[in-house]
Amino acid sequence: MTLKNFDQKLTQYANLLVNVGVHVQKHQKILLSIAVDQQLLAHKLVDAAYAAGADKVVIKWQDNYVLKQFLNSTTDEMLTKIPSYIKDEADTLMNEHYSRITILSEAPDSLSGVDAKRLAKYQQALSTAQQTITEATINNRISWLVAGAANRVWAKELFPDESEEEAYDHLWEAIFTTSRITDDPIKTWQAHINELSKRADWLNSLHLDKLHYQAKTADITIGLAKDHIWEAAGSTDTQGNYFVPNIPTEEVFTAPNLHDINGEITSTKPLSYQGNVLTKIHLVFKDGQIIDASAEQGNEVLQELIKTDAGSRSLGEVALVPYDSPISNSEIIFQNTLYDENASNHLAIGAGYPFNVKNGTELSKEKLHQLGVNDSQVHVDFMVGSADMNIDGITQNGSIIPIFRNGNWAE
Ligand code: ZN
Ligand code: ZN
Repeated sequence: MTLKNFDQKLTQYANLLVNVGVHVQKHQKILLSIAVDQQLLAHKLVDAAYAAGADKVVIKWQDNYVLKQFLNSTTDEMLTKIPSYIKDEADTLMNEHYSRITILSEAPDSLSGVDAKRLAKYQQALSTAQQTITEATINNRISWLVAGAANRVWAKELFPDESEEEAYDHLWEAIFTTSRITDDPIKTWQAHINELSKRADWLNSLHLDKLHYQAKTADITIGLAKDHIWEAAGSTDTQGNYFVPNIPTEEVFTAPNLHDINGEITSTKPLSYQGNVLTKIHLVFKDGQIIDASAEQGNEVLQELIKTDAGSRSLGEVALVPYDSPISNSEIIFQNTLYDENASNHLAIGAGYPFNVKNGTELSKEKLHQLGVNDSQVHVDFMVGSADMNIDGITQNGSIIPIFRNGNWAE
Protein backbone atom coordinates (compact mmCIF):
# COMPACT_ATOMS: atom_id res chain seq x y z
CA MET A 1 0.00 0.00 0.00
CA THR A 2 1.59 3.24 -1.15
CA LEU A 3 -1.57 5.32 -1.50
CA LYS A 4 -1.07 8.75 0.05
CA ASN A 5 -3.02 9.23 3.30
CA PHE A 6 -4.44 5.72 3.01
CA ASP A 7 -4.90 5.26 6.73
CA GLN A 8 -6.63 8.63 7.11
CA LYS A 9 -8.90 7.98 4.12
CA LEU A 10 -9.81 4.53 5.38
CA THR A 11 -10.73 6.06 8.76
CA GLN A 12 -12.90 8.69 7.02
CA TYR A 13 -14.48 5.94 4.95
CA ALA A 14 -15.29 3.82 8.03
CA ASN A 15 -16.74 6.89 9.75
CA LEU A 16 -18.91 7.64 6.71
CA LEU A 17 -20.22 4.07 6.57
CA VAL A 18 -21.09 4.11 10.26
CA ASN A 19 -22.42 7.66 10.66
CA VAL A 20 -24.16 8.23 7.32
CA GLY A 21 -24.52 4.71 5.89
CA VAL A 22 -26.06 2.62 8.62
CA HIS A 23 -26.34 5.77 10.80
CA VAL A 24 -25.47 4.13 14.10
CA GLN A 25 -27.49 5.39 17.08
CA LYS A 26 -26.82 5.08 20.79
CA HIS A 27 -27.43 1.48 22.01
CA GLN A 28 -27.63 0.11 18.46
CA LYS A 29 -26.36 -3.42 17.84
CA ILE A 30 -24.57 -4.24 14.60
CA LEU A 31 -23.94 -7.33 12.54
CA LEU A 32 -20.87 -6.80 10.34
CA SER A 33 -20.19 -9.18 7.46
CA ILE A 34 -16.69 -8.73 6.04
CA ALA A 35 -13.94 -10.83 4.43
CA VAL A 36 -11.12 -12.19 6.58
CA ASP A 37 -8.51 -10.14 4.69
CA GLN A 38 -10.25 -6.84 5.59
CA GLN A 39 -9.24 -6.78 9.22
CA LEU A 40 -8.00 -3.17 9.19
CA LEU A 41 -11.29 -1.83 7.81
CA ALA A 42 -13.23 -4.10 10.19
CA HIS A 43 -11.36 -2.64 13.16
CA LYS A 44 -11.99 0.91 11.98
CA LEU A 45 -15.71 0.14 11.58
CA VAL A 46 -15.78 -1.35 15.07
CA ASP A 47 -14.05 1.77 16.47
CA ALA A 48 -16.45 4.10 14.65
CA ALA A 49 -19.51 2.11 15.76
CA TYR A 50 -18.58 2.13 19.45
CA ALA A 51 -17.63 5.81 19.18
CA ALA A 52 -21.15 6.45 17.84
CA GLY A 53 -22.64 4.72 20.89
CA ALA A 54 -23.21 1.17 19.64
CA ASP A 55 -23.78 -1.48 22.32
CA LYS A 56 -22.40 -4.43 20.40
CA VAL A 57 -20.74 -5.30 17.09
CA VAL A 58 -20.88 -8.93 15.98
CA ILE A 59 -18.55 -9.85 13.10
CA LYS A 60 -19.20 -12.59 10.56
CA TRP A 61 -15.87 -13.21 8.83
CA GLN A 62 -16.31 -14.33 5.21
CA ASP A 63 -13.91 -16.41 3.14
CA ASN A 64 -14.91 -17.44 -0.38
CA TYR A 65 -11.93 -19.81 -0.63
CA VAL A 66 -13.35 -21.91 2.19
CA LEU A 67 -16.85 -21.65 0.73
CA LYS A 68 -15.64 -22.74 -2.70
CA GLN A 69 -13.84 -25.79 -1.29
CA PHE A 70 -17.03 -26.76 0.55
CA LEU A 71 -19.25 -26.28 -2.52
CA ASN A 72 -16.91 -28.32 -4.71
CA SER A 73 -16.24 -31.12 -2.27
CA THR A 74 -19.26 -31.80 -0.08
CA THR A 75 -22.02 -34.36 -0.66
CA ASP A 76 -25.39 -33.36 -2.15
CA GLU A 77 -26.95 -34.02 1.22
CA MET A 78 -24.59 -31.77 3.19
CA LEU A 79 -24.91 -29.05 0.56
CA THR A 80 -28.46 -28.21 1.58
CA LYS A 81 -28.28 -29.33 5.21
CA ILE A 82 -28.02 -25.98 6.94
CA PRO A 83 -27.43 -26.49 10.68
CA SER A 84 -30.36 -25.29 12.79
CA TYR A 85 -28.22 -22.80 14.71
CA ILE A 86 -27.95 -20.70 11.53
CA LYS A 87 -31.71 -20.10 11.54
CA ASP A 88 -31.78 -19.60 15.33
CA GLU A 89 -29.01 -17.06 15.09
CA ALA A 90 -30.70 -15.18 12.23
CA ASP A 91 -34.00 -15.09 14.16
CA THR A 92 -32.32 -13.93 17.37
CA LEU A 93 -30.33 -11.16 15.69
CA MET A 94 -33.38 -9.83 13.86
CA ASN A 95 -35.55 -10.07 16.99
CA GLU A 96 -33.02 -7.87 18.68
CA HIS A 97 -33.00 -5.45 15.73
CA TYR A 98 -29.36 -5.78 14.80
CA SER A 99 -28.41 -3.36 12.01
CA ARG A 100 -26.36 -4.83 9.20
CA ILE A 101 -23.14 -3.68 7.57
CA THR A 102 -22.03 -5.82 4.64
CA ILE A 103 -18.63 -5.15 3.07
CA LEU A 104 -18.10 -6.63 -0.39
CA SER A 105 -14.56 -7.26 -1.52
CA GLU A 106 -14.33 -10.68 -3.15
CA ALA A 107 -13.09 -10.94 -6.73
CA PRO A 108 -16.04 -11.10 -9.19
CA ASP A 109 -15.25 -14.68 -10.21
CA SER A 110 -14.19 -15.96 -6.78
CA LEU A 111 -16.67 -18.85 -7.05
CA SER A 112 -16.26 -19.60 -10.73
CA GLY A 113 -15.88 -23.28 -11.48
CA VAL A 114 -18.47 -24.21 -8.88
CA ASP A 115 -21.33 -26.10 -10.48
CA ALA A 116 -24.15 -23.56 -11.04
CA LYS A 117 -26.86 -25.94 -9.85
CA ARG A 118 -25.02 -26.82 -6.64
CA LEU A 119 -24.32 -23.16 -5.95
CA ALA A 120 -27.99 -22.25 -6.49
CA LYS A 121 -29.15 -25.14 -4.26
CA TYR A 122 -26.85 -24.09 -1.45
CA GLN A 123 -27.79 -20.42 -1.75
CA GLN A 124 -31.47 -21.29 -1.69
CA ALA A 125 -31.11 -23.50 1.41
CA LEU A 126 -29.07 -20.84 3.16
CA SER A 127 -31.44 -18.01 2.30
CA THR A 128 -34.40 -20.09 3.52
CA ALA A 129 -32.60 -20.57 6.85
CA GLN A 130 -31.81 -16.87 7.03
CA GLN A 131 -35.16 -15.65 5.73
CA THR A 132 -35.81 -13.45 8.78
CA ILE A 133 -32.72 -11.44 7.86
CA THR A 134 -33.80 -10.98 4.24
CA GLU A 135 -37.32 -10.00 5.28
CA ALA A 136 -36.19 -7.60 7.99
CA THR A 137 -33.83 -6.02 5.47
CA ILE A 138 -36.21 -5.72 2.55
CA ASN A 139 -38.91 -4.26 4.84
CA ASN A 140 -36.49 -1.84 6.53
CA ARG A 141 -37.25 -3.26 9.95
CA ILE A 142 -33.54 -2.72 10.53
CA SER A 143 -31.10 -0.24 9.07
CA TRP A 144 -28.56 -1.78 6.72
CA LEU A 145 -25.66 -0.89 4.51
CA VAL A 146 -23.71 -2.44 1.65
CA ALA A 147 -20.32 -0.95 0.81
CA GLY A 148 -17.09 -2.18 -0.75
CA ALA A 149 -13.41 -2.71 -0.03
CA ALA A 150 -10.49 -3.43 -2.36
CA ASN A 151 -9.03 -6.89 -2.63
CA ARG A 152 -5.80 -7.73 -4.49
CA VAL A 153 -7.23 -10.45 -6.74
CA TRP A 154 -10.21 -8.29 -7.70
CA ALA A 155 -7.90 -5.29 -8.31
CA LYS A 156 -5.56 -7.28 -10.55
CA GLU A 157 -8.53 -8.50 -12.62
CA LEU A 158 -9.69 -4.92 -13.15
CA PHE A 159 -6.22 -3.53 -13.89
CA PRO A 160 -4.26 -6.44 -15.40
CA ASP A 161 -1.47 -4.21 -16.79
CA GLU A 162 -0.54 -2.87 -13.38
CA SER A 163 1.55 -4.52 -10.68
CA GLU A 164 -0.47 -6.11 -7.90
CA GLU A 165 0.39 -3.26 -5.52
CA GLU A 166 -0.48 -0.57 -8.10
CA ALA A 167 -3.74 -2.26 -8.98
CA TYR A 168 -4.68 -2.58 -5.31
CA ASP A 169 -3.99 1.13 -4.73
CA HIS A 170 -5.89 1.98 -7.90
CA LEU A 171 -8.99 0.10 -6.73
CA TRP A 172 -8.91 1.66 -3.26
CA GLU A 173 -8.56 5.08 -4.86
CA ALA A 174 -11.54 4.35 -7.11
CA ILE A 175 -13.59 3.23 -4.11
CA PHE A 176 -12.71 6.38 -2.17
CA THR A 177 -13.47 8.64 -5.15
CA THR A 178 -16.79 7.07 -6.07
CA SER A 179 -17.77 7.00 -2.38
CA ARG A 180 -17.04 10.75 -2.23
CA ILE A 181 -14.31 10.65 0.40
CA THR A 182 -13.51 14.36 0.27
CA ASP A 183 -12.01 16.56 3.00
CA ASP A 184 -15.42 16.48 4.64
CA PRO A 185 -17.23 13.36 3.43
CA ILE A 186 -20.20 13.78 5.74
CA LYS A 187 -20.96 17.30 4.49
CA THR A 188 -20.42 16.19 0.87
CA TRP A 189 -22.88 13.36 1.41
CA GLN A 190 -25.52 15.63 2.89
CA ALA A 191 -25.44 17.74 -0.28
CA HIS A 192 -25.50 14.63 -2.49
CA ILE A 193 -28.48 13.17 -0.59
CA ASN A 194 -30.33 16.47 -1.11
CA GLU A 195 -29.72 16.40 -4.87
CA LEU A 196 -30.91 12.82 -5.24
CA SER A 197 -33.96 13.47 -3.09
CA LYS A 198 -34.98 16.35 -5.38
CA ARG A 199 -34.94 13.98 -8.36
CA ALA A 200 -37.12 11.51 -6.50
CA ASP A 201 -39.54 14.34 -5.55
CA TRP A 202 -39.79 15.36 -9.22
CA LEU A 203 -40.57 11.81 -10.37
CA ASN A 204 -43.12 11.39 -7.58
CA SER A 205 -44.85 14.61 -8.66
CA LEU A 206 -45.38 13.18 -12.19
CA HIS A 207 -47.49 10.16 -11.04
CA LEU A 208 -46.28 8.03 -13.95
CA ASP A 209 -48.01 4.87 -15.07
CA LYS A 210 -45.23 3.40 -17.24
CA LEU A 211 -41.75 3.98 -18.55
CA HIS A 212 -40.84 3.32 -22.16
CA TYR A 213 -37.13 2.60 -22.77
CA GLN A 214 -35.61 2.97 -26.21
CA ALA A 215 -32.00 2.30 -27.16
CA LYS A 216 -30.01 -0.02 -29.43
CA THR A 217 -30.25 -2.53 -26.58
CA ALA A 218 -33.80 -1.83 -25.43
CA ASP A 219 -37.38 -1.53 -26.53
CA ILE A 220 -39.43 -2.17 -23.48
CA THR A 221 -42.38 -0.70 -21.61
CA ILE A 222 -42.24 -1.15 -17.85
CA GLY A 223 -45.39 -0.45 -15.87
CA LEU A 224 -44.85 0.96 -12.40
CA ALA A 225 -46.52 -0.50 -9.31
CA LYS A 226 -49.77 1.18 -8.23
CA ASP A 227 -49.09 3.78 -5.50
CA HIS A 228 -45.37 3.48 -6.25
CA ILE A 229 -42.90 5.78 -4.57
CA TRP A 230 -39.57 6.82 -6.08
CA GLU A 231 -36.84 6.61 -3.49
CA ALA A 232 -33.28 7.84 -3.53
CA ALA A 233 -30.24 7.85 -1.30
CA GLY A 234 -31.79 6.95 2.02
CA SER A 235 -34.64 5.13 3.70
CA THR A 236 -36.13 5.28 7.17
CA ASP A 237 -36.28 2.04 9.13
CA THR A 238 -39.30 1.12 11.22
CA GLN A 239 -37.54 2.53 14.30
CA GLY A 240 -37.42 5.91 12.58
CA ASN A 241 -33.69 5.86 11.80
CA TYR A 242 -32.74 7.45 8.44
CA PHE A 243 -29.97 5.42 6.80
CA VAL A 244 -28.26 5.21 3.40
CA PRO A 245 -28.25 1.53 2.39
CA ASN A 246 -25.67 1.76 -0.41
CA ILE A 247 -22.41 3.66 -0.50
CA PRO A 248 -21.89 4.73 -3.20
CA THR A 249 -25.40 5.50 -4.46
CA GLU A 250 -26.45 7.48 -7.50
CA GLU A 251 -29.83 5.92 -8.21
CA VAL A 252 -33.46 6.96 -8.01
CA PHE A 253 -35.60 3.83 -7.98
CA THR A 254 -39.06 2.38 -7.57
CA ALA A 255 -41.05 -0.84 -7.94
CA PRO A 256 -42.16 -1.97 -11.40
CA ASN A 257 -45.57 -3.57 -11.90
CA LEU A 258 -44.94 -7.32 -12.18
CA HIS A 259 -48.12 -7.70 -14.27
CA ASP A 260 -47.20 -5.10 -16.86
CA ILE A 261 -43.77 -5.40 -18.51
CA ASN A 262 -43.59 -5.91 -22.27
CA GLY A 263 -40.69 -5.88 -24.71
CA GLU A 264 -37.03 -6.75 -24.59
CA ILE A 265 -33.80 -5.47 -23.13
CA THR A 266 -30.12 -6.46 -23.05
CA SER A 267 -27.67 -5.75 -20.24
CA THR A 268 -24.88 -3.32 -21.11
CA LYS A 269 -22.28 -4.11 -18.43
CA PRO A 270 -20.98 -7.42 -17.08
CA LEU A 271 -22.75 -8.60 -13.96
CA SER A 272 -20.91 -10.40 -11.19
CA TYR A 273 -23.43 -12.66 -9.51
CA GLN A 274 -22.47 -15.20 -6.86
CA GLY A 275 -18.89 -15.38 -8.01
CA ASN A 276 -19.75 -15.69 -11.72
CA VAL A 277 -19.68 -13.14 -14.51
CA LEU A 278 -22.77 -12.78 -16.73
CA THR A 279 -22.63 -10.73 -19.91
CA LYS A 280 -25.24 -9.57 -22.45
CA ILE A 281 -28.22 -10.80 -20.46
CA HIS A 282 -31.10 -10.67 -22.92
CA LEU A 283 -34.62 -10.81 -21.51
CA VAL A 284 -37.94 -10.85 -23.34
CA PHE A 285 -41.07 -9.98 -21.36
CA LYS A 286 -44.75 -10.51 -21.91
CA ASP A 287 -47.32 -9.28 -19.40
CA GLY A 288 -44.64 -8.97 -16.75
CA GLN A 289 -43.10 -12.43 -17.17
CA ILE A 290 -39.74 -13.36 -18.65
CA ILE A 291 -40.63 -15.54 -21.61
CA ASP A 292 -37.13 -15.83 -23.00
CA ALA A 293 -33.72 -15.38 -21.39
CA SER A 294 -30.15 -15.84 -22.49
CA ALA A 295 -26.68 -14.58 -21.61
CA GLU A 296 -23.54 -14.58 -23.71
CA GLN A 297 -21.42 -15.60 -20.70
CA GLY A 298 -22.88 -17.24 -17.58
CA ASN A 299 -26.04 -18.47 -19.33
CA GLU A 300 -26.39 -21.50 -17.02
CA VAL A 301 -26.23 -19.32 -13.94
CA LEU A 302 -28.90 -17.06 -15.45
CA GLN A 303 -31.17 -20.02 -16.23
CA GLU A 304 -30.85 -21.27 -12.62
CA LEU A 305 -31.51 -17.78 -11.32
CA ILE A 306 -34.79 -17.30 -13.18
CA LYS A 307 -35.92 -20.78 -12.12
CA THR A 308 -35.57 -19.94 -8.41
CA ASP A 309 -39.27 -19.29 -7.75
CA ALA A 310 -42.34 -17.61 -9.27
CA GLY A 311 -40.95 -14.14 -8.61
CA SER A 312 -37.62 -14.74 -10.29
CA ARG A 313 -39.44 -14.57 -13.65
CA SER A 314 -40.26 -10.90 -13.22
CA LEU A 315 -38.71 -7.64 -12.08
CA GLY A 316 -38.59 -5.99 -8.66
CA GLU A 317 -36.74 -2.76 -9.26
CA VAL A 318 -36.42 -0.05 -11.87
CA ALA A 319 -33.60 2.41 -11.18
CA LEU A 320 -32.51 5.53 -13.03
CA VAL A 321 -28.88 6.65 -13.03
CA PRO A 322 -27.51 9.19 -15.50
CA TYR A 323 -24.84 7.89 -17.86
CA ASP A 324 -22.88 10.96 -16.85
CA SER A 325 -22.18 10.14 -13.19
CA PRO A 326 -18.96 9.83 -11.16
CA ILE A 327 -18.80 6.03 -11.34
CA SER A 328 -19.66 5.99 -15.02
CA ASN A 329 -17.12 8.75 -15.67
CA SER A 330 -14.40 6.77 -13.89
CA GLU A 331 -14.79 4.41 -16.88
CA ILE A 332 -13.97 1.50 -14.60
CA ILE A 333 -16.21 -1.53 -14.88
CA PHE A 334 -15.91 -2.76 -11.32
CA GLN A 335 -17.62 -6.10 -12.05
CA ASN A 336 -19.35 -5.55 -8.74
CA THR A 337 -23.02 -4.61 -8.77
CA LEU A 338 -22.75 -2.10 -5.94
CA TYR A 339 -20.55 0.09 -8.13
CA ASP A 340 -21.71 -0.83 -11.62
CA GLU A 341 -25.42 -0.40 -10.86
CA ASN A 342 -24.65 3.12 -9.72
CA ALA A 343 -23.03 3.87 -13.07
CA SER A 344 -26.05 2.82 -15.07
CA ASN A 345 -29.78 2.56 -15.37
CA HIS A 346 -30.60 -0.85 -14.02
CA LEU A 347 -33.37 -3.31 -13.33
CA ALA A 348 -33.55 -6.16 -10.85
CA ILE A 349 -34.80 -9.69 -11.41
CA GLY A 350 -36.80 -10.83 -8.38
CA ALA A 351 -38.15 -9.16 -5.25
CA GLY A 352 -39.43 -5.62 -5.13
CA TYR A 353 -39.04 -3.41 -2.08
CA PRO A 354 -42.36 -3.01 -0.22
CA PHE A 355 -41.29 0.50 0.83
CA ASN A 356 -41.47 1.46 -2.85
CA VAL A 357 -45.27 1.66 -2.55
CA LYS A 358 -47.37 3.77 -0.18
CA ASN A 359 -47.55 2.13 3.29
CA GLY A 360 -45.95 -0.89 1.64
CA THR A 361 -44.15 -2.23 4.70
CA GLU A 362 -47.55 -2.60 6.44
CA LEU A 363 -49.29 -4.41 3.57
CA SER A 364 -49.81 -8.17 3.20
CA LYS A 365 -47.96 -10.12 0.50
CA GLU A 366 -51.25 -10.54 -1.39
CA LYS A 367 -51.94 -6.80 -1.37
CA LEU A 368 -48.39 -6.04 -2.50
CA HIS A 369 -48.76 -8.55 -5.32
CA GLN A 370 -52.00 -6.87 -6.39
CA LEU A 371 -50.25 -3.50 -6.55
CA GLY A 372 -47.57 -5.14 -8.71
CA VAL A 373 -44.73 -5.45 -6.19
CA ASN A 374 -42.85 -8.67 -6.88
CA ASP A 375 -41.91 -11.23 -4.22
CA SER A 376 -38.97 -13.62 -4.56
CA GLN A 377 -36.02 -15.08 -2.71
CA VAL A 378 -33.73 -13.29 -5.12
CA HIS A 379 -33.05 -9.68 -6.03
CA VAL A 380 -30.41 -9.40 -8.73
CA ASP A 381 -29.65 -6.04 -10.34
CA PHE A 382 -28.38 -5.92 -13.89
CA MET A 383 -27.20 -2.89 -15.82
CA VAL A 384 -29.06 -1.64 -18.88
CA GLY A 385 -27.99 2.00 -19.27
CA SER A 386 -26.30 3.36 -22.39
CA ALA A 387 -25.33 6.67 -23.92
CA ASP A 388 -28.13 6.39 -26.50
CA MET A 389 -30.92 5.54 -24.09
CA ASN A 390 -34.14 7.55 -24.17
CA ILE A 391 -36.83 6.99 -21.58
CA ASP A 392 -40.32 8.42 -21.74
CA GLY A 393 -42.67 8.56 -18.81
CA ILE A 394 -46.27 7.77 -19.68
CA THR A 395 -48.98 9.08 -17.37
CA GLN A 396 -52.39 7.51 -16.60
CA ASN A 397 -54.06 9.68 -19.27
CA GLY A 398 -51.41 8.76 -21.86
CA SER A 399 -49.38 11.94 -21.96
CA ILE A 400 -45.66 11.52 -22.52
CA ILE A 401 -42.98 13.18 -20.41
CA PRO A 402 -39.30 12.94 -21.40
CA ILE A 403 -37.39 11.44 -18.46
CA PHE A 404 -34.06 10.50 -20.08
CA ARG A 405 -32.49 11.75 -23.29
CA ASN A 406 -29.23 10.29 -24.60
CA GLY A 407 -28.47 8.51 -21.38
CA ASN A 408 -28.99 11.49 -19.08
CA TRP A 409 -31.84 13.22 -17.25
CA ALA A 410 -34.01 15.03 -19.79
CA GLU A 411 -34.18 18.10 -17.56
ZN1 ZN B 1 -30.75 -0.27 -7.54
ZN1 ZN C 1 -31.36 -3.56 -6.50
